[in-house]
Amino acid sequence: MTGAGVSVESGIPPFRGKGGLWESFDPMEYATISAFLKDPKKVWDVLLKAMKEVMDKAAPNDAHMGLAQLEEWGYLTTIITQNVDGLHQMAGNTDVIEYHGSFVKNYCMDCQKNYMISDIVLEQTPPRCSCGGIIRPDCVFFGETIPYENLMRSFEMAQSCDVMLVIGTSAIVQPAAMIPVNARESGATIIEINPERTPLTGLISDYILKGPAGRIMQQLVTEIKHLRE
Ligand code: NAD
Ligand code: ZN
Repeated sequence: MTGAGVSVESGIPPFRGKGGLWESFDPMEYATISAFLKDPKKVWDVLLKAMKEVMDKAAPNDAHMGLAQLEEWGYLTTIITQNVDGLHQMAGNTDVIEYHGSFVKNYCMDCQKNYMISDIVLEQTPPRCSCGGIIRPDCVFFGETIPYENLMRSFEMAQSCDVMLVIGTSAIVQPAAMIPVNARESGATIIEINPERTPLTGLISDYILKGPAGRIMQQLVTEIKHLRE
């Protein structure tokens, strides 16, 4: 399971903590569905434009690449990510549950036509569909419900996995923060990778690998590679 921290080394800031987006933006003003519906131009001009700028340039880092390697070796089946940046798929992982949806995909609120974020030009905001409708990201704003399928599949994975890596998540955003708890209660070993302590540390996590996700994942992959030789 991954959170915003896994993409920090790709140049995408997290929401909370030092350098986080919430230092510059008030989430209630920009990240709720009611704020978007009330003033889509404002939310596109500030929050979504800033997200597009960093995501247009971002590429997978060693953490994403390490997870793709674990899948290739057959140790990892599924990633549950809270991220909306599409970097796990770009790195090569094939089963990614995008818990909060995707910012790579956008759609017209009137006719549902799909648009990739890289194809959207923000000369005029909010961006509009050829039908005139307003385009919105296919991710979950605060105040929207998590897609049912994502909830169910994540819960199933948590209940059936042997080991869960919990990487770069503050474990504060609910209901996502319950996923490692469910996994632990179902008998999984929890390994946390994060430079900081979280509410899971010492309570739910069996191991904490303290440090940035890219470096730690690279070390982990190197260790496993030696064991396989
Ligand atoms: P968060 O912003 O609440 O917390 C980020 C966590 O990452 C913190 O625990 C921090 O200590 C850790 N971290 C910072 N640098 C790290 C590094 N180099 N390696 C590993 N960990 C590092 O993020 P969250 O818990 O994922 O929740 C916020 C919500 O915001 C998510 O649901 C997500 O949808 C959204 N979000 C997504 C992106 C993205 O798609 N890349 C970016 C920002 C926020
Ligand atoms: Zn349309």
